[in-house]
Amino acid sequence: MDRTFVMVKPDGLQRGLVGEIVSRFERKGLKIVAARFEKLPESRVSDQYREHISKPFFPSLKQYIMGGPVFLMVWEGRNVVSIVRKVIGATNPQEAAPGTIRGDYGIDIGRNVIHASDSPESAAREIALHFKPEELCTYTRIDESVLYEY
Ligand code: UDP
Ligand code: MG
Repeated sequence: MDRTFVMVKPDGLQRGLVGEIVSRFERKGLKIVAARFEKLPESRVSDQYREHISKPFFPSLKQYIMGGPVFLMVWEGRNVVSIVRKVIGATNPQEAAPGTIRGDYGIDIGRNVIHASDSPESAAREIALHFKPEELCTYTRIDESVLYEY
């Protein structure tokens, strides 16, 4: 089964959106296999966003992500990486479709509530960056036999 890394950013957490966000993924049929509440150290923020280090927005991005605790999660399901990117919506909440998390809860690109891995390769890297293998729980959700066609 596929896995992806998701993080409720400090604005989402301080606005009380963790429960709503977890609920949206649960209702979709995705399975939570790891979670942790944490204030991220600078090194891990830089590693998480390493492809953006040279970009002009990187200093403000780092300050934003380190501005408070975040809620880190790993979600599992068939094709979960692309499903979760669709559920969170476009990077800029002004362009994100209504019904998506960013479309429903954000306004500014620099306060866009949530992060999710953009490819299976990023997902594997980001999961390993934030979680030890033994922190990922393997279990069967009771509705899996009716959720999936095969
Ligand atoms: N970001 C920003 N300004 C920009 C582009 C990105 O503040 O012009 C921030 C924003 O928080 C975004 C993160 O940097 O979520 C990573 O950017 P990316 O293009 O990877 O978007 P994402 O994968 O989060 O949709
Ligand atoms: Mg990205």
